[in-house]
Amino acid sequence: MKDVPRGTCGGRSEAHSANDPAIALDELAHRVAGEFRRRFGRSPQWLAAAPGRVNLIGEHTDYNDGFVLPMAIERYVVMAASPAGEDGMGGDGKSVRLHSSAVHEPERFRVGDDDFRQLAPWARYVYGVMVGCREQGLDMPALDVLIDSTVPLGGGLSSSAALEVATATLLEAVTGQRLDPIAKARLCQKAEHQYAGVPCGIMDQFTSVLGQAGQLLLLDCRSTQIRMVPLTDPEVEVLIVNTNVKHELTGGEYAQRRSQCEAAARAMGVASLRDATLDTLRQYAATLEPVLHRRARHVIGENDRTTAAAECLARGQWAEVGRLMYASHASLRDDYEVSCEELDVLVELAQQHGSDGAVIGSRMTGGGFGGCTVSLVRKDHLDRLVASIASDYLRLTGIVPTMFTTRPAQGTQVLPQPVE
Ligand code: ADP
Ligand code: MG
Repeated sequence: MKDVPRGTCGGRSEAHSANDPAIALDELAHRVAGEFRRRFGRSPQWLAAAPGRVNLIGEHTDYNDGFVLPMAIERYVVMAASPAGEDGMGGDGKSVRLHSSAVHEPERFRVGDDDFRQLAPWARYVYGVMVGCREQGLDMPALDVLIDSTVPLGGGLSSSAALEVATATLLEAVTGQRLDPIAKARLCQKAEHQYAGVPCGIMDQFTSVLGQAGQLLLLDCRSTQIRMVPLTDPEVEVLIVNTNVKHELTGGEYAQRRSQCEAAARAMGVASLRDATLDTLRQYAATLEPVLHRRARHVIGENDRTTAAAECLARGQWAEVGRLMYASHASLRDDYEVSCEELDVLVELAQQHGSDGAVIGSRMTGGGFGGCTVSLVRKDHLDRLVASIASDYLRLTGIVPTMFTTRPAQGTQVLPQPVE
C-alpha cells in the first residue's frame, strides 16, 4: 500500500477557519474504519480515498472541446472494505453489501447479475464502476463495503466522481491489480453515463484520479492532454462558498445550452466552438441569431480566459488572474445566462473585498443556477472575510452559506490501515 503523503492530509491547516472546516484525511480514515468495525464486527482490510474537485475557471467549455482548469480539493469520499463475512450472500465473488453514512438504507447486489434500475440511485454509481472493473479483469471477492464522505452531495463539488473513483481505487487495492489512470477515469465516467444517466464530461473523473497537491490541471477536453499548473503560494488559498440553493429549472437548460453551442458552431462552419475565435465571431455577428451569438461569445472568450489564467497563475500575476475570474462570472451571468441571484450576490460581496487585497478573484463554479462560488483569497485576511461574507449573504438572501478553504489536493489513493 502507498503511504499517505503528510502534506496533503495530515493535521488541520490553520487556514481552515471557515464555517465548515475540513476533517483531515487520516481522521476521516479513522472514522470510516471505526464505523466499519461497528457495522460489520471486524476491521476493514482495504481503504481507499478519492477527492472532490472545484473548477477555477473554464465553465461550460468542456462539451465544446475546450479548456478547463480544475483542482482536486481536500474533501474526500473514503471507502473501507473486507471480504464478505459468514452472513454475506453466498461468497461467489459477486456479492456486495454497501453502507453509506450519507444514506439511511444499505444496499446489496451481485455485480453484473442484478438489474441496476432496481438499486437505489446512489448505489448505481458503485455498481457501475464495479461492473466496469470486472470487465477490465479486476476479479473481486464478495465484499462488505462502507462509505463515508466530506464532499457535500449534489453541491457541484463532484461527490459523484469521488464516489466512482474511490470505488475503482478500492477494487485496485482489493485485487492487487492496477488500472491505467486515464482508462480508470474513463471507466468511471462511463459508469456515470450508463448507470446514473448523467451525460457528464471527463473533467471530474480526471481531476479526482490525476489531481496533485499544489497543482491545478489545465485540461484540453478535446485531446484530454493535461498540463499541471502550480498553485503553491503559501499566502493564497482557494475559498469555496456554497450558496446552499439549487434552483430547479423546468426545461433542460443544460441540453438547451449544448444544442445552442452546436447550432452556433454549425452556423460558423466549425466543428465545435473550440475552433472559432473572436475574429470568426465578428465575421458572423450580423447573421448569427443574437442568443447564439451570446452563447458563442461566452465559450470562445472562456477558452481564451482559461488558457490565459493558467499562464498568469504560473507567473503569480494575481491581479490578472482575478480580472479573468470576474470576467468569467460576468460572461456566465450575461452571455450564457446560467448564474442566479445568490451566486451574483456572493461574487459581488467578494469583489467588494478585493479593494483591500483580501480577494484576488471570484466566480460561480459548476453548471450554475446555484451551487458554489470559487474565490482565490489571501490567507491573512481570511477570518474577517469569511465572517463578513457569511453575515452579508445571510442579510441579503436569508440563507446561511457554507464555506471552507482548500489547497489543491492529491488525487485518489489507497490509504494505510489506521492504528486502532
Ligand atoms: P455532485 O457530483 O455535484 O455532488 P451529483 O448529483 O452529480 O452532484 O452527485 C450526487 C449523487 O452522488 C448523490 O445524490 C448520490 O447519489 C451520490 N453520492 C455521492 N456521494 C455519496 C456518498 N457519500 N454516499 C452515497 N451516495 C453518494
Ligand atoms: Mg456529479
